[in-house]
Formats: sequence, structure tokens, C-alpha cells
Amino acid sequence: MANEATVHPRETETTPVPVERVSRSRVADQDLTQLGFGRVFADHMFLAEYEQGRWSSGRILPYGPLPLPPSITGLQYALAVFEGMKAHRAPDGRLVLFRPGDNARRFQRSAARLAMPPVPEALFMNGLRQLLREDREWAPPHGGGALYIRPVQFSSDPSIGVRPAERFLFSIFTSPYAKYYAAPVDVMVSDRYARAFPGGTGDVKPAGNYAGAMLADREAKEQGCQSVLWLDAEERRYVEECGVMNVFAVFRDRILTPPLTGTILPGITRDSVITLLRSMGHVVEESRFAIDDVFAAHDRGDLLEFFGTGTAATVTSVRSIRYRDRTIQLAPVAPDGVGGRVRDRLVGLASGRDPDPYGWVEPA
Ligand SMILES: *Cc1c(COP(=O)(O)O)cnc(C)c1O
Repeated sequence: MANEATVHPRETETTPVPVERVSRSRVADQDLTQLGFGRVFADHMFLAEYEQGRWSSGRILPYGPLPLPPSITGLQYALAVFEGMKAHRAPDGRLVLFRPGDNARRFQRSAARLAMPPVPEALFMNGLRQLLREDREWAPPHGGGALYIRPVQFSSDPSIGVRPAERFLFSIFTSPYAKYYAAPVDVMVSDRYARAFPGGTGDVKPAGNYAGAMLADREAKEQGCQSVLWLDAEERRYVEECGVMNVFAVFRDRILTPPLTGTILPGITRDSVITLLRSMGHVVEESRFAIDDVFAAHDRGDLLEFFGTGTAATVTSVRSIRYRDRTIQLAPVAPDGVGGRVRDRLVGLASGRDPDPYGWVEPA
């Protein structure tokens, strides 16, 4: 199935930036077919600065520490936003990206929400493509993981005054992984903590959103669960997200996912999965549903599956849901279930295995 035609031609011209290469690549020291997620980083990083109202065009340098004073507002007040995306090795060996422009634009929305100057899409894509050119050997073989890409922007203002910052760094670095932990998860509904609230920052990706969720995550783990199922902050009734994934509940007659009302992160995987499920003939509605409805549907035998979606984990099945003093067990996921099939569809597209009718896949 794999052929040149699976990847849509796209403008991949780059404006060269200065490159300071490592004297010796570390890639030969790694077994790219075994790496876990997020601990090993490729040889280089891209770095651009914002000062006096403009972005530099950036440069590539060896991945490593940045000398920064502890007073920077990125640390003091969490003026920091990030993205998560992946480059896959296609069957023909080329690297492909999945909807990277959507990540670039979401990165801009995240920055704008924190009163930070957005990184121009051209700077983002130019830095990304050249970094991937330098570190392409770090991408695992087709079918075995991906090169995870982490763009991050934060304030480097050395000032503890509370005001929008004026100096920023934008970096992109990458991390190869062979397998993301994608086993079914047990989740615990948190009615004590909230992840996002109306008017807050739940619909963008500031670092602080993750910081605020750490304690709930730890408490879920202490209870033997792997993740938190978040409810809305106001009524603590409606299902919002699962850990750092969007959620889908598969009922007998339709599939529901919470609408983008401002407290849900607009996941690119979520959007892709909605499109793919519909193309597979499923009825998918973006509408609110209460945790009580999930339990009631389960009791009637109408809840077939529940899964989370996100770049790192793709589609992750939920095996059990714990809420107050009750735990429901969901049927073990079969590869031919809804979640299993949409995961295969998504991975097939994103990895360049299958023809892409959507224009989502681009050469790196
Ligand atoms: C990043 C993120 C997701 C997933 O978004 P994708 O674009 O699919 O990777 C879901 N929920 C939260 C809270 C996130 O931060």
C-alpha cells in the first residue's frame, strides 16, 4: 500500500539557519527499537529568541543545558507553553509529519492566551524541518514508535515583576521512543480537583495546566489507577478529559465526545478521530454527558467502550472507571472494537503506511 502517493506534496523549502553540530552523534549508543517514552533526547535542538519586539530566525545547536538565571518569569510565573507532535518513519524510510500546521497554530493560541508573542508559523515549521533533517537518524524504524517532538516557548525575562514578559525563548527538541505505554488504563474520577474552568486556560497548552494536575494524578495512582477522569469544574457532573487525553464514550447507538466549550483541549487526535469514526460509519456527537449517564448506560449494558485520545498515546482504552464508591469494569478491548479499529486507522495514516485522503500527512 505504501507508495509516494501516500504523502501529499507540500511546500518543504526551508531558509537555512546556522547549525552547530555535535562532534559525535549519540544515536549509535541507542537501541531505537527498545526506548521507553520521553527520556532520551536526540543530538540537536532548535533555539530562537524574541527580543525588542521581534523573533530571531533561530539556530540549531547540540541538545543541552541553557544558562538561565532563576529569576526568569518562565519559572516564576509559569509563562511557558508547549506542544507535542510526532515524526514517523514511513515504509520507504522518509520522515512524515501529521498535521504539523495545526500544532503550530495551537502553539500560537497558547502563547497569545498567556500574553506572549506567538511564534510565526513559518519560523516554527522552518526550525522543525531543519532540526528533523539533522536528527533524522534518531527516528525509529517504521512500525516501531516515532520521534516525539517537543516545541516549547517560555519567558526569559530576568524580572520578578508581575507583568507580561518581553523576552522569550522558543526551542524544539526531539525524543525517540519505541513504544508508548498503551495498555488499557484504570481511571479514577476526581470530584475534588478540577483541571480547567470557564475563562481559564484549559483549552490551550500552558505548562501550568500540567502542574495543577500532578497531585490528582498522584492520588489516582495511590488508589491503583493510572489516570484521572476529569469532570467540569462548576457542577462536577460532566465528563471532560482523561489525564491529558480527550475522551470518547461508545454507547450502543452513538459515540459521544465533550464539545469544545473552552475547558476542553482541542486535541488534533480528537479532531482526527471524529473524522475517522464518521468515515467508518459511526454516529459521533460532540455533546456533554454526565458521569452518572456513563454509569447508568453501563448498568443497562449500553456502554460498549470508553477511550482517550492524544498524540503520545494515540487511542488508549479505559478498562475501569472508579467514581466515589463504585467501580465499573468495561469489556476488554478487542482489536476489532471501535477504539482498536480507529487506532489502527490513525496509526496507519500518521506513519505513512496508508494512503492519506485528508491531506494530513506531510514530508518532514
Ligand atoms: C495535548 C493534550 C491533549 C491531546 O492533544 P493532541 O493534539 O491530540 O495531542 C488532550 N488533552 C490535554 C489536556 C492536552 O494537554
